[in-house]
Amino acid sequence: TRSTAEWRALDAAHALHPFTDYKALAAEGSRIITRADGVYLWDSEGTRILDGMAGLWCVNAGYGRRELVDAAARQMTALPYYNLFFKTATPPAIELARKLVELTPAGLNHVFFTNSGSEANDTVIRMVRQYWALEDQPERRVIIGRHNGYHGSTVAATAMGGMGAMRRQGGLPLPDFEHIREPNRLRYGPDQSPEDFGRAAAGWLEEAIQAIGPGRVAAFIGEPIQGAGGLIVPPPGYWAEIQRICANHGILLIADEVICGFGRTGRWFGSQTFDIRPDIMTLAKGLSSGYLPIAAVMVGDRVSRTLIDKGGEFIHGFTYSGHPTACAVALENISILEREGLVDRVREDIGPFLMERLEGLRDHPLVGEVRGKGLMAGVELIRDKDQHSFFAPVGRVGTRCRDHCFSNNVVIRAVEDTMVMAPPLIITRDQIETMVDTLARALDRTQRDLPR
Ligand code: PLP
Repeated sequence: TRSTAEWRALDAAHALHPFTDYKALAAEGSRIITRADGVYLWDSEGTRILDGMAGLWCVNAGYGRRELVDAAARQMTALPYYNLFFKTATPPAIELARKLVELTPAGLNHVFFTNSGSEANDTVIRMVRQYWALEDQPERRVIIGRHNGYHGSTVAATAMGGMGAMRRQGGLPLPDFEHIREPNRLRYGPDQSPEDFGRAAAGWLEEAIQAIGPGRVAAFIGEPIQGAGGLIVPPPGYWAEIQRICANHGILLIADEVICGFGRTGRWFGSQTFDIRPDIMTLAKGLSSGYLPIAAVMVGDRVSRTLIDKGGEFIHGFTYSGHPTACAVALENISILEREGLVDRVREDIGPFLMERLEGLRDHPLVGEVRGKGLMAGVELIRDKDQHSFFAPVGRVGTRCRDHCFSNNVVIRAVEDTMVMAPPLIITRDQIETMVDTLARALDRTQRDLPR
């Protein structure tokens, strides 16, 4: 094996990291993660790190699950790979589809498998347009997303997402993607009651539909809780009103459950937590707890009936759509979440405990808001509470706070100036105490170092 210095040198020489500031990486070098167990990672120096982000919001069942290794080995021995093209199927893909239909809200009765959340959302774009073409309304092409929504990194998923800087790279934006503001009360409605703000924020969708022309709008997409875009928890009434507006105009409602799915918000899906009845839902991450890449599009009867009855063939698919080994691991992962009651635990016990502990940070001078649901929480930093002013340039202070946490061996992410936590669902109370105490100390450090 190599020394840390050797790993770093090789990494710097050859890897183009995703979502990484190359200059900062070159200056500091990467931290080499070599193994993991439970909620902990170990780096190449043997230092233990508490993973408060479950990787990238995905290792819901925690690391070191022997059952998942065994499930993969069994499936690879029997049938490592086959596909779902041209009228073939495999038992793990059939069983997983059945299980997902059972767990997701009623009416989502069909599944299209992909390898990543990005591909799932990209698939949705083609599927939705194909649906409207088959319904003889091909002019319904526009998909409305939200500012700071994140739906992935393919060209089309980036266009559908609302990440400003991201959308300016790589020849984007594409036509026929529009965006409304996300329901961020701290920014857009601090003086409104949550209920009034919820109604107002949903009203932005109605305004956009009127501006675009209702006959041109194909779908609206949103994450039940916006994750990478700042941990935006919807205000009361928001989703009910969005649902009503979509129904009123016959617009398809798509829930991106890539982060919120598989227990993250205390129910199996964020759609259940917020009472959303989507026509289409995308899943990834927690579907396999990140052990293998797999994602899925859950398709409701309205769309699947048209695709099947009128369509003939949806000319779309990936070599690894429904990869049997990934499906076998996902099935076993779901069975772990069920067996250990992890979803109920998030809702009834450990989620409320995390929020209660974070509430204790509310009086810190840097803390503008504490928000979250289940094991998905954000602490937004603010420059001046009385003046309600934010940091500029945005993200610098959050990044510093994140780096303090990481040097103290706790992974907490900064999305701009919001400190974000989404630990594995197996995290204990003691481990939450450690995570929140580390954040508290990092906030103190960050506060001390602020330029006056
Ligand atoms: N949708 C949401 C809400 C996400 O958070 C992500 C990834 O973070 C994606 C889609 C993209 O998924 P993937 O990275 O698997 O392509």
